[in-house]
Amino acid sequence: MDREEQLIDQVIRRFPFKRNGLRVGIGDDAAVLRPSADTEWVVTTDAFLETVHFLRKIHPAEVVGSKALARATSDIAAMGARPRYFFLTLGLPEACTGAWLDEFLRGMARAAKRFGLTLAGGDTTKYSQIVISLTVMGEIDRGKSILRSGAKPGDLLFVSGRLGEAELGWRLMQRKLHKQARWGGLLKKHLRPEPRLALGQWLAAHQCATSMIDTSDGLSTDLGHICKASGVGARVWAKKIPAVRVPAELRHRNLDPLQLALHGGEDYELLFTVSKRFAGRMPHKVAGIPVTQIAEITHEKKVVLVGTDGHNNPLLPGGWDPFRGSR
Ligand code: ADP
Ligand code: MG
Repeated sequence: MDREEQLIDQVIRRFPFKRNGLRVGIGDDAAVLRPSADTEWVVTTDAFLETVHFLRKIHPAEVVGSKALARATSDIAAMGARPRYFFLTLGLPEACTGAWLDEFLRGMARAAKRFGLTLAGGDTTKYSQIVISLTVMGEIDRGKSILRSGAKPGDLLFVSGRLGEAELGWRLMQRKLHKQARWGGLLKKHLRPEPRLALGQWLAAHQCATSMIDTSDGLSTDLGHICKASGVGARVWAKKIPAVRVPAELRHRNLDPLQLALHGGEDYELLFTVSKRFAGRMPHKVAGIPVTQIAEITHEKKVVLVGTDGHNNPLLPGGWDPFRGSR
């Protein structure tokens, strides 16, 4: 076996093979998949790169593996689909082919099991830095995908979970404050985000969401995407936003909960709109995850924040943009 084959072997050994509708899986030139009757494929691809998205020295390999797959799978959740297969392309420095790769795969395999994903192929190559590219395929009943483009004036906007938690964790990690045991727990969302699969599928099954997106870049940026795609605006109430809880001892460190919630990225929560008629019947929790109404959709194509003081201000996109490099 040559070195590349050995590495491929090291990868696929970690993932139990399940036929699961797969006609041809790993080992041939390409995979052959068979969709179930009356369903559509929902396909997404996501790059997770050393130095841009994670740091080899700070982020444990097992965390890199599970987070890479969680990020990619969040896009499947944001369409309302069920995860089925994934493809893993890896570029690795020689130094990362041993223990690092094992730990990385352990984290990814655990996440794959939790999300119901079967590894169906990929590519393995050597590179000077760690490059991870994931393609995830989901399945959904024909025509049920929830797009960014369906929000209508008068709809109400909901968000799952809490916003700003991942950003708080990352800021603490950058300042090395997470090494203090009492704040270690605040890193959970940054290290181990969970795609909101059950909520996404619930919304698709009930056909009650008019639009949806996952919050990867921050509320201000991601809500902007829904508004642009739908040709509408929004009025957000600051006091309704379920913002991260910042411990009092950390408040003075330029860690304002509202700012973190408005512009912090990587929470991977779901942001979705619901018609007014349905909004009253929205449960407060779906699959154990709280959902909170935070805004209404407006005709005027602007996103406005109603502050805690009652004043209106434009809410401009201030989230994560790799080409602006705000992080
Ligand atoms: P080719 O040279 O035709 O691209 P490879 O030797 O790269 O074939 O791959 C052989 C098989 O191993 C293929 O089925 C491919 O999908 C699979 N494979 C390679 N790398 C990975 C990986 N990182 N994860 C999953 N499957 C992989
Ligand atoms: Mg190949």
